[in-house]
Amino acid sequence: MTQHDERYRIAKALLGTLLAVMAFTGCAAAQNDPTWTEPFPPFHIAGNLYYVGSKGLANYLITTAHGHILINSDLEANVPMIRASVEKLGFKFSDIKIILISHAHWDHDGGSAMIKQITGARYMVMDADVPVVESGGKSDFQYGKAPANLYSPTKVDRVLHDGDEVKLGDAVLVAHLTPGHTKGCTTWTMRVREDGQTRHVVIVGSPNVNPGYKLVGNTLYPRIAEDYERTFQVLKSLPCDYFLGAHGNYFDMETKYSRFKAGFTRAFIDPDGYQKYVAEREQAFRTELARQKTITVP
Ligand SMILES: [Zn+2]
Repeated sequence: MTQHDERYRIAKALLGTLLAVMAFTGCAAAQNDPTWTEPFPPFHIAGNLYYVGSKGLANYLITTAHGHILINSDLEANVPMIRASVEKLGFKFSDIKIILISHAHWDHDGGSAMIKQITGARYMVMDADVPVVESGGKSDFQYGKAPANLYSPTKVDRVLHDGDEVKLGDAVLVAHLTPGHTKGCTTWTMRVREDGQTRHVVIVGSPNVNPGYKLVGNTLYPRIAEDYERTFQVLKSLPCDYFLGAHGNYFDMETKYSRFKAGFTRAFIDPDGYQKYVAEREQAFRTELARQKTITVP
């Protein structure tokens, strides 16, 4: 080997390391969307179900005579806003007895430790998301090494499994495991009584493949592609009248809210929109899977 070859070899190795570092840091952290901390008016959806989230992060309050259930805790910065929304609707924040989440990402579970501390509520999380929640995000397969995406580790009081029911007073919520986006991503369903009818509510956990997600050859989550497949089967099988989700943009909340404010009380009943959304997200997953399969050397 000549000296020139040796210098070339070292330069190539350094460049490879640099590119690997750039790729890692580029994919590892996810930016916060400014709408996540933008206030949004709280409102009654149907039956005992209310919206108490921000513009970009969805929170749901299920009220009963025996206390309330809160779905999602958002970023710690959102907690005072969630509290203000609950109180504006005439409920007490301290009456929250149970905290649930859509999935173990900082924008849905970062405020859980704080809300537990304020209310003394019990925290119930799907089995495969428990290690992530209890490590404050450090064991997440995608964002575990991104300091910006970590949060206060929070003790889980009840570990949920697929199909488990969460009951409080006369409220019953069912936890459906819809994995892929996180290993324990959860879609919540419940029934509401409105206008003398019983209707189905679906709160989608997330069907999204985030930028940087490896669907092929993911050593930290080898089953990721099969898990997404399962999620789409589950989502397609759920009866849905009220279509809701972890972010308002899943179900076009702002447009529906405008119609709702204009007097169309059924604005959030959207079974067709739900089926279309699931089909579109499934197609996006399949396109990305096919793309990654063509660029991955076996
Ligand atoms: Zn997420």
